[in-house]
Formats: sequence, C-alpha cells, structure tokens
Amino acid sequence: MKLAVIEGDGIGREVIPEAVKVLDAFGLDIEKVPLELGYARWEKTGTAMSGKDLKTIKRCDAVLFGAITTVPDPNYKSVLLTIRKELNLYANIRPIKPLPGVIGITGRSDFNLVIVRENTEGLYSGIEEVGPDISWTKRIITRKGSERIAACACKLAKKRKNKLTIVHKSNVLKSDKLFLDVCRQTASAHGIDYSDMLVDSMAYSLMMHPEKYDVIVTTNLFGDILSDMCAALVGSLGLVPSANIGEKYAFFEPVHGSAPDIAGKGIANPIATILCVKMLLEWMGETRSQVIDDAIAEVLQKKIITPDLGAKSSTIEVGNAVAEYVKNSLMQE
Ligand code: NAD
Repeated sequence: MKLAVIEGDGIGREVIPEAVKVLDAFGLDIEKVPLELGYARWEKTGTAMSGKDLKTIKRCDAVLFGAITTVPDPNYKSVLLTIRKELNLYANIRPIKPLPGVIGITGRSDFNLVIVRENTEGLYSGIEEVGPDISWTKRIITRKGSERIAACACKLAKKRKNKLTIVHKSNVLKSDKLFLDVCRQTASAHGIDYSDMLVDSMAYSLMMHPEKYDVIVTTNLFGDILSDMCAALVGSLGLVPSANIGEKYAFFEPVHGSAPDIAGKGIANPIATILCVKMLLEWMGETRSQVIDDAIAEVLQKKIITPDLGAKSSTIEVGNAVAEYVKNSLMQE
C-alpha cells in the first residue's frame, strides 16, 4: 500500500504529522510518499502542483491530505479541485457525529448523520469567466454524475437506517431538477426510504432537528456549505473528517481549511485529521480502526483538548496522547 502524504499549507502542516503518528502506531506496511504542494510552493516556485506530482499521486493507492490555501488569483488553479477531477473522486463522504463529552452549538448530541457531497460537478466545474463587469461560473449537473453519487448514498443508507434525504434547490435552479429526479429514481430502485428538502430549509432544519436525518445527498456547493455548518453541531471544524472516494483512488482530508488565523501557533485541533486516518484504515479493511475512537474518547475525557474546544492543550499534545493510547491498546491485543 502506497500513501501520498500532503501536508499543504497553514495548519495542514501541523495536523498531518499528528495523524501520521497515529497511523504509524498500527505498524502497517504502508509506504508513505511525502509531497509538498500548495500555495506556499506556488509563492516560492510559481507552481502549486506539477504534472509530475500528479503522476506520483496516481501511482499511490490513497492520499492523506491536510489543507491548502486557495487565493482568488485567476492564475492560481486550485490543487484540490484538480486532484478531485484527475482522480475522479466523485463522492465526498462527511460523517457528522458528536464525540463523547463535546457539545456543539445546539447543545444536543442525539444525532449521527453523513453528508454525501457530489464532488466533481455543480458550481465547482471550473468553467468560468472573470471580467470587469460580468463574471460567471457554469453549474454542471449530469445524469451520470447524479446517478453515481445517488448510488453511493443509497449503498451507505442501506448499511445504516435505509433513509435518505435529497437536498437541492430545484425550485430556482433548473439544473437541480435533473439531480432531484435522478436521486429519486435511484433511491426507488435501491428500495431506500427517501425524502427531499430545499437547501435553505435544510440548513434551518439541521440546526433545529439534526436527529431527523441520517444520510444526506447533495450537490457540490451545498454539501460544502452544509458540512461546515454541521461542524458547529459537533463543536468544531477541527472534529470533522472526510473521505473523497472514486472508482480507483481514495483521498482523506479534514473538512477544515488551512486556518491562517491560527496557523503556526500549535493549537489546531488534529482530531478531524486523526479521524481521517480511521476512515483510511476502514477503506483498507483494517478491522482495528475502532481503537482510534476509544483513544479520542479517552483523550477528551482527560481534558487533553485544544483551544477550539475550550482548553489549552497543543496540537502535538493531543496527537501524542491519541497515538500513545492506540499503541498501548494494540500491544495488549
Ligand atoms: P478554515 O476551515 O481554514 O477556518 C475556519 C475557522 O475554523 C477559522 O477560525 C479556523 O481557525 C477554525 N479552524 C479550522 N480548522 C481548525 C482546527 N483544526 N482546529 C481549530 N480551529 C480550526 O476556513 P477559511 O479560514 O475560510 O479558509 C482558509 C483557507 O483554507 C482558504 O484559503 C480556503 O480556500 C482554504 N480551504 C482549504 C480547504 C482544503 O484544502 N480542503 C478547505 C476549506 C478551505
């Protein structure tokens, strides 16, 4: 197994080393291929990611990724969007699950949901023109893209509560009618109990009644926004992992970005990225991945907690404590 490890920019450079410590604690035969990509490299060299880097990534089986700063410069091409397209990582799976003892903005912990975000189309098509008086971006919805993301969400729903919510804005965006119709047809064909919601009322409903939802399928931009919003439900953006899955490759990254406001201070919460390691292990079929949940529960209970959750521990202290627990537990098995 070959794993590309991309720290990226800002806090990506702080959280990835902690997640790698936890991965190493499993003692698996994984060849790690470090790659320096992103905005810092673009500033130094004028290239954020070369064709050679992309080939190296394609020779790996999976990617562990921190975060990259994306600037609104027309000459700067988003590394992340390029990788998602090139590797055909069409499904972005974002579990929103409360952690023991951590209460989010609404004060509730009676929910456990997953956002399945279409990852290659919608408003992230990259087909756009920027002008002095008019700028536009093409929003692409295809039958094929909608079918495969709907099928992915249905498979996940089957393993969970057989329940799916399709989130769209088809009353205004005519392109979403295709997405909605295809998702409905796919859910029917899979025998899934489904309903649909307009994205604006969904945002409200998720804040008021997150317990009503299980698997949510939606388009690219809506999934991006709803998942950051749902991070407030679990208490911090530093707690939400994600997996980008395609036919051949898998790419694991926290939902958060490079957080320039806290970068370099050693206080970023590494738990989202450590949970990405858990998702990577599950994707590999490693049955011991559950020990990561136990380790995080123990570390939170001991109040080894970063400032986003109200305490003073550092990124490294949290990473060390989780890795230590994992190592000790696995030794006892
Ligand atoms: P952000 O997610 O980086 O930060 C939003 C807020 O959450 C900040 O206050 C930050 O301090 C906090 N936060 C985020 N992660 C945290 C963590 N692990 N621990 C504690 N607090 C955390 O979003 P932003 O500030 O809007 O974006 C910064 C840059 O990151 C932008 O250039 C954006 O384009 C980029 N970005 C990259 C990715 C990615 O690479 N996957 C995702 C989102 C944003």
